[in-house]
This record gives sequence, structure tokens and C-alpha cells, in this order.
Amino acid sequence: MARPIIAIVGRPNVGKSTIFNRIVGDRLAIVEDKPGVTRDRLYGSGEWLNREFSVIDTGGIEIDGDDTLLKSVRAQAELAIEEADVIIFMVDAKAGVTASDEEVAQLLFRSKKPIVLAVNKVDNLQRQDEIYEFYSLGIGEPIGISGSHGIGIGDLLEAASSHFPDDQDEQYGEEVIRFALIGRPNVGKSSLTNAILGEERVIVSSEAGTTRDAIDTPFERDGQKFVIIDTAGMRKRGRVYENTEKYSVMRAMKAIERADVALIVIDGDEGIIEQDKHIAGYAHDAGKAAIFVVNKWDIVDKDDKTMQQFTQKIRDHFLFMSYAPVVFVSAKTKQRLQKLLPVVMQVAEQHSLRVQTHMLNDVVSDAVAYNPPPTDKGKRLRLNYVTQVAVKPPSIVLFVNEPELMHFSYERYLENKIRAAFGFEGTPIRLFTRRKS
Ligand code: GDP
Ligand code: GDP
Repeated sequence: MARPIIAIVGRPNVGKSTIFNRIVGDRLAIVEDKPGVTRDRLYGSGEWLNREFSVIDTGGIEIDGDDTLLKSVRAQAELAIEEADVIIFMVDAKAGVTASDEEVAQLLFRSKKPIVLAVNKVDNLQRQDEIYEFYSLGIGEPIGISGSHGIGIGDLLEAASSHFPDDQDEQYGEEVIRFALIGRPNVGKSSLTNAILGEERVIVSSEAGTTRDAIDTPFERDGQKFVIIDTAGMRKRGRVYENTEKYSVMRAMKAIERADVALIVIDGDEGIIEQDKHIAGYAHDAGKAAIFVVNKWDIVDKDDKTMQQFTQKIRDHFLFMSYAPVVFVSAKTKQRLQKLLPVVMQVAEQHSLRVQTHMLNDVVSDAVAYNPPPTDKGKRLRLNYVTQVAVKPPSIVLFVNEPELMHFSYERYLENKIRAAFGFEGTPIRLFTRRKS
């Protein structure tokens, strides 16, 4: 199920990061707890009434030149308008309504995106009266909150979640494979899109997409239906903030949420940088099938070991995604491009693979017999029953005597055994440990 994306927009110092931390709490993105992933908080995940969502603080987009403050808040707002499902517009009760608040309000208002107006720093009841002046922004009822005191956060999330879209998975039929080309700017996402589709089609469809906030391009190859989700970077290019990391991560977030398969495009010539990890980490965290697509292979100096070495580099940098296949291509020469869609089909199939309960239990009991769980303070984990509860991604529940006795390394061991038996190439697997004696 696609997680809705909330973007927090507002001037510096209104309290965006304080609220972001309140919402995310210690529920950091799952992937950030795993080794090999950076701990920068570009985005986080939260939950409200059993619905998971992603949240991003759009602050900190740096833009050079005059009038920097206004430009950067405007950039945040534009980005949020393009990619978020709900926007939290944050203002400061102590400062009152400022000119840049008004300007941003205008922008947001015209966008027709759902907006929740949060007036922060309402630290006590006396200040509650100060929120009324924010009605003048013309975007509805202001909600008084206090980041530092943790007041009103529930009301804020209640209001935001009332605008969450219904699950979008139904938009295309089950038989359609939805994939997104994601990656930092200039790795070749648009060139690859063009190369996959053939020039004319993209030009036609990039004009469309006015009804939805993302541009999807359906096509069919050898009887299989595909949709390229949000052909990243095809529209409105050349914005000043397009090269900022927040921008490319947020664009990727939205496309990933709507896709089944994430094609993580890496520049074969420049190699892997930190930003690639943030984007890949999001795909993993969102439970999507993934493929590393190393592009620009035409200009790489290579011998018979180069591919293997590059693959190893990917394995070292993306420790948590060893399941994702690596494909080397060139959008320019179309080298190996015909290999790509078959791999997309394979991983999509694995992503929705369902394993029979008795087979799963056989594999897991063999694994446990071969290598029993270590004891912890004299107690030993006992696995009673295993069953797959969901697909996309495959999600498996392990019923045990004491969930606290399950350790990360043992979970890893079981995951490896499950993968060795059933495949699941190209897809993350979710393992949940539940008590049942
Ligand atoms: P950002 O730049 O919008 O991300 O703002 P920050 O979250 O960094 O907060 C800016 C300043 O406002 C910090 O000094 C915070 O401690 C302070 N602040 C944040 N929330 C509140 C609040 O609810 N009440 C008061 N009085 N101060 C707050
Ligand atoms: P995007 O920002 O990720 O959509 O990247 P673009 O598709 O706009 O490509 C960025 C630059 O890389 C352009 O100058 C492309 O011509 C170039 N480029 C893209 N793919 C390849 C490739 O396979 N080989 C070479 N040599 N250049 C490429």
C-alpha cells in the first residue's frame, strides 16, 4: 500500500525540524537501523491510526543569490506542491504573520493541494488567542501547536491524515508492472526513459499528466503491460533548486511510492555517492522491488573485470540491498538495454511471490535444526510456526515463544535461508516476530 507523503513547509526557525522529530520520534525509517546506511534525517516515517506515512522537512534548500530566504521557501513550497500528498504549512505564533508567510500562502493556495496550517510555538493557553490572525492567510483553520512542549501534535496529524488519498494501487490492473527510474540528477533517467520508450511517445505524453500530479507512461512489450511512473526529470527542467539533494530525494519518494519496481540509476562514469544511498534506501524502506541500473557504460574504461568490480562496489555500499540485481546499460548506445525489461519482469514476479505455509515451515525448521538460536540469559528462542501474510513485499510472520529473544543476526540468518530456498531475487522481505507459544 502506498504511503502518503507529508511535506512540512515554512520559513527557517518556525520549528519545522522540531515538529519533524516529534512526528517521527524514534520511528526512524526502517532502513536507517541497518548497517551501511547513513543516518541523515532526510525523511522519516510515522504512523497515525494504523496508516503509515512518510514525512519530509523541506527546509534547508539552499539557493544562492539575492532574496535567498524567500526564494528558498518558495522552492520548498513548489517541491511540496509537486510531490507531497498533504502539506503542513508551518508559521510562528511569536512572529505573527510575515510577508513571506503571505507569499507562500498564495503559492500553496493556488496549488489546490490539501494544506494544513500549523501555528507553532503556542506554548500556553494565553497564546492560543494569537492563532486567529493566521486566518488572514486564507488557507483555513489554523491549528495551534507547540513543538517544544509536544502540544497539538495529535490534532495536527488528525487534520493531515484526513486528506490522505485512498490507496492508489487500484489505479492500474494487477497485471500491469509499474516501475520508476530514480536517481540523482544527470545519471541519465530521462535518456533511459527515452531509450526504453522511443522518442515520440515520451514527447507526446510529457505534455499530458495535467489531471494527475505525476506523469505516467503506459506501454506494452511482448504482451506484458508496463507503466513508467513519473518519468523523473522530464518536465519543468532547469529549476535553480533541481540539483539540491532534498529535491531529488523527494521526487524519488513520490515515484517510488507509486511503483512496484524501483530502477535505481547510477552513473557508471562518476560512481556511487552518498545521495545514491539515500534514494536506494528509500526504495528498500518502502518495500519495493529494486534493480541497480549502471548507466553510461559506454564511456567507462573497462576490461573483463570491470563489471564484477563495479558490482562488488555496489554490494559494499548498499549492504542492506544485496537482493537487487545489477544491470549495466548505456542509454546513449542502447547497449544491453534489451536486458532491462526482462529483469523488471523477473523482480516484479518475485515481489508478488507467495510461498506455501508448509514449505516455509519445512525450510525454517531445517534452518533452526541446523543452527539453533543462541541462548540469551539462559532462555532460548523457540520458533513455533511461520507463515507468509502478504506480498509486495513478501511479508513473513515468525511466531515464537519470546519475541525479545529474536536477534538481528538470527533474523538475517533465517532470511538468507528463506532466500536460498525460494529466491525472492530483487525484492526486500519483511520478517515480523510475534508471540505465540
Ligand atoms: P526550523 O528552522 O523551521 O526547522 O526550526 P527549528 O525546529 O530548528 O526551531 C527553531 C527554533 O524554535 C529553535 O530554537 C527551537 O527550539 C524553537 N522552537 C521550536 N518549537 C518551538 C515551540 O513550540 N515553542 C517555542 N517557544 N520554541 C520553539
Ligand atoms: P537525468 O537528469 O537523470 O534525467 O539525466 P539525463 O537523461 O538528462 O542525462 C544527463 C546527461 O547524461 C545528458 O547530457 C545525457 O546526454 C548524458 N547521458 C545519459 N545517458 C548516457 C549514456 O548512457 N552515456 C553517455 N555517454 N551519456 C549519457
